[in-house]
Amino acid sequence: MTSCERSAVLSLHLPPLPEKISARLSTCNSLPSLPAAAARVLMLARHDEASLIDYAEAIEKDPALALRLLSLANSSYYSRGNVESHTCREAVSRLGLDATLAAVMSFSLARISASALNLDPLWQRAIIASLASRHLASRLCPEKADRLFTISLLQDIGILAAIALNEDDYHRLIISAEGHDSLVAAEHTLYGCDHALIGAWLANSWGLPAHLSRGIGSTHGALDTKTPEALCLRLSGPVADAWLSESPARSLFRLLHRFETLSDVLPVSLASLLEKVQRDLPDMVHLLDITAPPKYDNQSLLEEAQQHLFRQALALTARLDTQEAELEALHQRQTELEQRSRRDELTGLANRAWIESQLKERFRLCKEQGRNLSVVFIDIDHFKRLNDCYGHLLGDQVLESFAAALQESIREGDLAGRYGGEEFLVVLPDEQEEGAMAMASRLTQRLTSRPLVHAEGMPIHVSVSIGIACLEHADFCSVRELIDAADQSMYRVKRKGRGGTATFNGQP
Ligand code: GH3
Ligand code: MG
Ligand code: MG
Repeated sequence: MTSCERSAVLSLHLPPLPEKISARLSTCNSLPSLPAAAARVLMLARHDEASLIDYAEAIEKDPALALRLLSLANSSYYSRGNVESHTCREAVSRLGLDATLAAVMSFSLARISASALNLDPLWQRAIIASLASRHLASRLCPEKADRLFTISLLQDIGILAAIALNEDDYHRLIISAEGHDSLVAAEHTLYGCDHALIGAWLANSWGLPAHLSRGIGSTHGALDTKTPEALCLRLSGPVADAWLSESPARSLFRLLHRFETLSDVLPVSLASLLEKVQRDLPDMVHLLDITAPPKYDNQSLLEEAQQHLFRQALALTARLDTQEAELEALHQRQTELEQRSRRDELTGLANRAWIESQLKERFRLCKEQGRNLSVVFIDIDHFKRLNDCYGHLLGDQVLESFAAALQESIREGDLAGRYGGEEFLVVLPDEQEEGAMAMASRLTQRLTSRPLVHAEGMPIHVSVSIGIACLEHADFCSVRELIDAADQSMYRVKRKGRGGTATFNGQP
């Protein structure tokens, strides 16, 4: 494979490092450096004509590195049941260049010590991420599996450079950041870029092939489903984070969710991925010579995560239920408000505005369809006297009780309303004079038969003056004219001494 082909692996274009940071990196003399053997191998990697023998010879100069390479070549992942490799050359030829490079880099990483900070969590993340990335790649882009393994392994080397740049501040950042994402966010504030980009710079300065440093620089960011390489890389970090999380079930739950949304493009289940990582972990831990990451019971953790997912779904439904209840309450309140805007507060009957608007609607329909309509205007006689004799409060009780009596006297479909103080209006759709008269008679009978209230132990009866106007009485042009006609009829009763009913006769 030529270097040109290699660089096509990840053709993502990296943004430039902020100038201030690249200037500080270039002059920083405490940046982590690679062991000599690794530097030699990397030098070969930049030359297309280097042979496997050249690689093997470069590696053999570092016996410890050669041993690690052999143990990797003989690990279950690479040996695949073949006979054991005994020489560095055999190991390199079994591993291939990419995996050899990965082994050299991982071995070198273990030898890098940066400051007093315990780097184990960093390497643990690197190992799990690289194994996850390699497995994902084996399904999505198998020919790039080893390369993506190396990139994932080195994805956080930028942290080493960041520590060298700004030891105290960065220490604090690492300690206070809750998870990788928040570390990245904090880095942006501190440096104007994150450790992926710094890592790409460091990889470049170490002489790593360009496709590797570009890959390192592109490990953060949104899950790119169009580029399988980027998808493998960007998923590998969160898989490692979930594995190493203090509450893995909760983190795995989030991951499960991601895997579900990616199921169209990802032919790997989270369960099988974790199983593969678990299987390959011991060899890798040995290779890097680090403290092994915690071994989780993936099955029960995943079950816990599934339960969490289920509970979330339940919580979501509960939230929807609450929202629906709130909406219902809102509707009810709206209806109540509307009702209130239609009702007269004292009597509970329709108020003047509402009854007039209803009458208007009815009037138009009846006119259009040639149907009948009657209105009945009712005024309580000598109401003022009641107020004067027994007080306003009793007057109110009378009005309330009268409204109830009126409501009892009308039929379904009729509408009774309070028109003013002690004036009431009833709309009788589809009724002629006869029906209106019958209604008036029901009301007067009710008023004579039973007192509305008692005052000072005495029953209080009221009489009413009633005026009736029906569409058949005249060619009324408006609701106003119809109501006026009923009102005029009512006044005729008043003039005649009160307590009676009159119908409109065309005479004011
Ligand atoms: P008439 O037989 O000519 O209709 O005499 P009246 O006393 O019934 O009529 P008038 O228009 O002279 O007086 C109406 C009284 O109704 C005056 C007013 O204070 C009283 N009134 C109006 N609204 C209310 C109310 O909500 N509660 C009480 N208690 N009284 C009211
Ligand atoms: Mg009056
Ligand atoms: Mg009156």
